[in-house]
Amino acid sequence: MLKYETLPVTPFQQNCSLVWCDQTMKGALVDPGGELPRLTAAAKRRGVVLEQILLTHAHIDHAGGAGQLARELGLPIVGPHTGDQFWIDGLAQQSAMFGFPAAEPIVPSRWLDDGDEVMVGQCRLAVRHCPGHTPGHVVFHSAEAGRAFVGDVLFAGSIGRTDFPGGDHDTLIASITGRLWPMGDDTVFIPGHGPESSFGRERRANPYVRGT
Ligand SMILES: [Zn+2]
Ligand SMILES: [Zn+2]
Repeated sequence: MLKYETLPVTPFQQNCSLVWCDQTMKGALVDPGGELPRLTAAAKRRGVVLEQILLTHAHIDHAGGAGQLARELGLPIVGPHTGDQFWIDGLAQQSAMFGFPAAEPIVPSRWLDDGDEVMVGQCRLAVRHCPGHTPGHVVFHSAEAGRAFVGDVLFAGSIGRTDFPGGDHDTLIASITGRLWPMGDDTVFIPGHGPESSFGRERRANPYVRGT
């Protein structure tokens, strides 16, 4: 079964998730935006052997630490979708704009597309492409654990911003209704910022997607 621990990092309190397979103790960091010593310490404390870095999208608070972590630990970077290449190319600019430490360049070992699968130990994560917040945004879904790691697509009570280059409100809503909702109302999601919620709760109470 997939286990996880959420570790908010950077001044944006971005929810990096340490995920692992409790059979093999092989694991991954989803969106290691920064504060790398804290993240590697959490893995060590849990007895998790890190094998890969997973990225939902290439905004600095999510991807800022990925290049350094990949270099230092020799880990592959998996994701996001190629639609985020321009955000990867602009990581240095993003660092400067938001006052983050200079981000090391990122070269994904594997780009992801809708319908792909990523294995964490023996645990299967289904990949859904959910553009709208960024063009190359992906989410990771464990059907077995009933959990989805959705980055900045959906939040408890809100949705991702769409006023950045490449963002589009209608596309984001279509991603949420067409690719998140089919995972089921009981699915608990870990958003990029703020507390967890379930898709069913958002369909009832989130003013941006209520009744969809
Ligand atoms: Zn973002
Ligand atoms: Zn974010």
